[in-house]
Amino acid sequence: IALADMPEGSMGEGYFATNLEKVIGLARKNSIWPLPFATSCCGIEFMATMAATYDLARFGSERLGFTPRQCDLLMVMGTIAKKMGPVLKQVYLQMAEPRWVLAMGACAASGGVFDTYSVLQGIDQIIPVDVYIPGCPPRPEAVIDGVLKIQELVHNESLRRRNSEHYKALLNSYGIQ
Ligand code: SF4
Repeated sequence: IALADMPEGSMGEGYFATNLEKVIGLARKNSIWPLPFATSCCGIEFMATMAATYDLARFGSERLGFTPRQCDLLMVMGTIAKKMGPVLKQVYLQMAEPRWVLAMGACAASGGVFDTYSVLQGIDQIIPVDVYIPGCPPRPEAVIDGVLKIQELVHNESLRRRNSEHYKALLNSYGIQ
Protein backbone atom coordinates (compact mmCIF):
# COMPACT_ATOMS: atom_id res chain seq x y z
CA ILE A 1 0.00 0.00 0.00
CA ALA A 2 1.32 3.44 -0.91
CA LEU A 3 1.98 5.68 2.08
CA ALA A 4 -0.51 8.22 0.72
CA ASP A 5 -3.17 5.48 0.77
CA MET A 6 -2.70 4.61 4.41
CA PRO A 7 -5.90 5.31 6.33
CA GLU A 8 -5.75 8.02 8.96
CA GLY A 9 -5.01 6.61 12.35
CA SER A 10 -2.40 6.48 15.01
CA MET A 11 0.85 4.69 14.54
CA GLY A 12 3.22 3.52 17.21
CA GLU A 13 6.08 1.13 17.47
CA GLY A 14 4.75 -2.21 16.25
CA TYR A 15 1.13 -1.17 15.87
CA PHE A 16 -1.21 0.91 13.72
CA ALA A 17 -4.75 1.77 14.78
CA THR A 18 -7.52 3.17 12.61
CA ASN A 19 -11.26 2.61 12.21
CA LEU A 20 -13.09 -0.11 10.30
CA GLU A 21 -14.70 2.30 7.83
CA LYS A 22 -11.33 3.51 6.59
CA VAL A 23 -9.98 -0.02 6.21
CA ILE A 24 -13.06 -1.12 4.25
CA GLY A 25 -12.76 1.98 2.03
CA LEU A 26 -9.13 1.15 1.32
CA ALA A 27 -9.92 -2.49 0.50
CA ARG A 28 -12.85 -1.58 -1.76
CA LYS A 29 -10.84 1.06 -3.57
CA ASN A 30 -8.16 -1.44 -4.50
CA SER A 31 -10.46 -4.26 -5.54
CA ILE A 32 -12.96 -2.69 -7.92
CA TRP A 33 -14.41 -5.09 -10.46
CA PRO A 34 -15.61 -3.12 -13.52
CA LEU A 35 -18.33 -4.30 -15.85
CA PRO A 36 -17.69 -2.83 -19.32
CA PHE A 37 -20.97 -1.96 -21.06
CA ALA A 38 -19.44 -1.00 -24.39
CA THR A 39 -21.59 -0.31 -27.41
CA SER A 40 -19.43 1.60 -29.86
CA CYS A 41 -16.21 3.51 -30.49
CA CYS A 42 -15.54 4.47 -26.85
CA GLY A 43 -15.34 0.76 -26.12
CA ILE A 44 -12.42 0.49 -28.55
CA GLU A 45 -10.60 3.29 -26.72
CA PHE A 46 -11.21 1.41 -23.49
CA MET A 47 -9.44 -1.61 -24.99
CA ALA A 48 -6.41 0.62 -25.59
CA THR A 49 -6.60 1.69 -21.94
CA MET A 50 -6.44 -1.96 -20.88
CA ALA A 51 -3.53 -2.81 -23.18
CA ALA A 52 0.16 -2.71 -22.31
CA THR A 53 0.94 0.94 -23.09
CA TYR A 54 -1.58 2.42 -20.64
CA ASP A 55 -2.16 -0.68 -18.53
CA LEU A 56 -5.14 0.05 -16.30
CA ALA A 57 -4.03 -2.98 -14.26
CA ARG A 58 -1.49 -0.70 -12.55
CA PHE A 59 -4.41 0.79 -10.63
CA GLY A 60 -5.96 -2.46 -9.45
CA SER A 61 -9.03 -2.32 -11.69
CA GLU A 62 -8.11 -4.80 -14.39
CA ARG A 63 -10.37 -7.63 -13.36
CA LEU A 64 -13.26 -7.08 -15.73
CA GLY A 65 -16.44 -9.02 -15.08
CA PHE A 66 -19.30 -9.79 -17.40
CA THR A 67 -21.83 -10.85 -14.83
CA PRO A 68 -23.44 -7.92 -12.99
CA ARG A 69 -23.69 -9.78 -9.70
CA GLN A 70 -19.90 -9.96 -9.41
CA CYS A 71 -19.18 -6.36 -10.38
CA ASP A 72 -19.36 -3.08 -8.52
CA LEU A 73 -18.42 -0.54 -11.20
CA LEU A 74 -20.61 -0.17 -14.29
CA MET A 75 -18.58 1.48 -17.07
CA VAL A 76 -20.87 2.70 -19.84
CA MET A 77 -18.97 3.43 -23.03
CA GLY A 78 -20.70 4.41 -26.21
CA THR A 79 -23.98 5.46 -27.72
CA ILE A 80 -26.99 4.08 -25.88
CA ALA A 81 -30.04 3.73 -28.09
CA LYS A 82 -33.36 4.29 -26.32
CA LYS A 83 -34.26 0.66 -27.04
CA MET A 84 -31.13 -0.38 -25.14
CA GLY A 85 -31.95 1.79 -22.12
CA PRO A 86 -34.06 -0.87 -20.33
CA VAL A 87 -31.25 -3.42 -20.80
CA LEU A 88 -28.71 -1.03 -19.27
CA LYS A 89 -31.03 -0.34 -16.37
CA GLN A 90 -31.58 -4.07 -15.83
CA VAL A 91 -27.82 -4.65 -15.70
CA TYR A 92 -27.52 -1.83 -13.14
CA LEU A 93 -30.32 -3.34 -11.03
CA GLN A 94 -28.63 -6.74 -11.09
CA MET A 95 -25.51 -5.32 -9.49
CA ALA A 96 -25.38 -5.53 -5.72
CA GLU A 97 -24.76 -2.50 -3.52
CA PRO A 98 -22.40 -0.82 -3.21
CA ARG A 99 -22.22 -0.05 -6.92
CA TRP A 100 -20.83 2.87 -8.86
CA VAL A 101 -21.36 4.12 -12.41
CA LEU A 102 -18.91 5.74 -14.77
CA ALA A 103 -20.08 7.38 -18.01
CA MET A 104 -17.27 7.37 -20.57
CA GLY A 105 -17.48 9.79 -23.48
CA ALA A 106 -19.91 12.35 -24.80
CA CYS A 107 -22.48 9.76 -25.96
CA ALA A 108 -22.88 8.12 -22.55
CA ALA A 109 -22.94 11.50 -20.84
CA SER A 110 -25.29 13.40 -23.13
CA GLY A 111 -25.99 11.54 -26.37
CA GLY A 112 -22.98 13.29 -27.93
CA VAL A 113 -23.34 14.12 -31.59
CA PHE A 114 -26.39 11.85 -31.85
CA ASP A 115 -29.04 14.41 -30.96
CA THR A 116 -31.75 12.27 -32.44
CA TYR A 117 -35.04 10.63 -31.47
CA SER A 118 -33.58 7.14 -31.14
CA VAL A 119 -30.63 7.89 -28.84
CA LEU A 120 -30.74 8.33 -25.07
CA GLN A 121 -29.51 11.85 -24.32
CA GLY A 122 -27.38 10.76 -21.39
CA ILE A 123 -27.52 7.62 -19.26
CA ASP A 124 -28.26 9.74 -16.19
CA GLN A 125 -31.81 9.88 -17.52
CA ILE A 126 -32.24 6.28 -16.37
CA ILE A 127 -29.52 5.50 -13.79
CA PRO A 128 -27.43 7.62 -11.40
CA VAL A 129 -23.89 8.40 -12.57
CA ASP A 130 -20.93 8.97 -10.23
CA VAL A 131 -18.23 10.14 -12.65
CA TYR A 132 -18.35 11.47 -16.21
CA ILE A 133 -15.34 11.26 -18.54
CA PRO A 134 -15.52 13.96 -21.24
CA GLY A 135 -14.29 13.43 -24.80
CA CYS A 136 -15.22 11.84 -28.12
CA PRO A 137 -13.58 9.50 -27.51
CA PRO A 138 -11.75 10.28 -24.28
CA ARG A 139 -8.03 9.51 -24.40
CA PRO A 140 -6.83 6.54 -22.32
CA GLU A 141 -5.27 9.01 -19.87
CA ALA A 142 -8.73 10.50 -19.31
CA VAL A 143 -10.20 7.03 -18.73
CA ILE A 144 -7.51 6.31 -16.15
CA ASP A 145 -8.25 9.67 -14.53
CA GLY A 146 -11.95 8.73 -14.37
CA VAL A 147 -11.18 5.39 -12.74
CA LEU A 148 -8.93 7.14 -10.21
CA LYS A 149 -11.78 9.54 -9.41
CA ILE A 150 -14.06 6.55 -8.82
CA GLN A 151 -11.40 5.05 -6.55
CA GLU A 152 -11.27 8.30 -4.59
CA LEU A 153 -15.05 8.22 -4.19
CA VAL A 154 -15.00 4.59 -3.11
CA HIS A 155 -12.18 5.20 -0.66
CA ASN A 156 -13.94 8.09 1.05
CA GLU A 157 -17.53 6.87 0.97
CA SER A 158 -19.20 6.47 4.33
CA LEU A 159 -20.52 2.97 5.03
CA ARG A 160 -23.77 4.64 6.05
CA ARG A 161 -24.30 6.37 2.70
CA ARG A 162 -26.20 3.45 1.12
CA ASN A 163 -28.71 3.48 3.98
CA SER A 164 -29.10 7.24 4.02
CA GLU A 165 -32.37 8.96 3.15
CA HIS A 166 -30.49 11.03 0.59
CA TYR A 167 -29.29 7.94 -1.29
CA LYS A 168 -32.71 6.27 -1.13
CA ALA A 169 -34.28 9.47 -2.50
CA LEU A 170 -31.74 9.47 -5.33
CA LEU A 171 -32.69 5.89 -6.30
CA ASN A 172 -36.39 6.69 -5.93
CA SER A 173 -36.00 9.54 -8.39
CA TYR A 174 -34.97 6.86 -10.93
CA GLY A 175 -37.90 4.64 -9.98
CA ILE A 176 -35.59 2.23 -8.16
CA GLN A 177 -36.76 0.94 -4.76
FE1 SF4 B 1 -18.03 7.21 -30.40
FE2 SF4 B 1 -17.54 9.74 -29.65
FE3 SF4 B 1 -19.78 8.55 -28.90
FE4 SF4 B 1 -17.47 7.73 -27.87
S1 SF4 B 1 -18.41 9.74 -27.57
S2 SF4 B 1 -19.12 6.43 -28.61
S3 SF4 B 1 -16.10 8.03 -29.62
S4 SF4 B 1 -19.19 9.02 -31.01
